[in-house]
Amino acid sequence: MHKLRIETKKRQLESFAKTKFKEYAMNKWQFKFSDEYPKSSCGHCVPEWKIIFMEISTIAKYKLPTLKDIVLHEFAHAIAGKKAMHGKEFRKVCKQIGCKGNRANNNYECYELRGKFSWQE
Ligand SMILES: [Zn+2]
Repeated sequence: MHKLRIETKKRQLESFAKTKFKEYAMNKWQFKFSDEYPKSSCGHCVPEWKIIFMEISTIAKYKLPTLKDIVLHEFAHAIAGKKAMHGKEFRKVCKQIGCKGNRANNNYECYELRGKFSWQE
């Protein structure tokens, strides 16, 4: 994909995340791009650092609506709390914030679905 398109998507995702942090009163939370897990991850949430990450490699793979849904999936982790994992509470939050999270897991790989929660390391 053209580099310019990637940069445009990055800016749009940053702005989307910023709006959502405000909407959910997630003070001091940050959205960042990562290249730590290019093969195994789309995004991940680190509550201890108040950071939601998206893998750079993910951006070229999906269109903006899917990328936004991946971001929302990570927001759901942040809001539901780490103990919720991908359980009932997590899915409830997904529904509330308009994330297809529970279904989306079938469409894209979730970092945690590899059995490795960032907050359990
Ligand atoms: Zn997840």
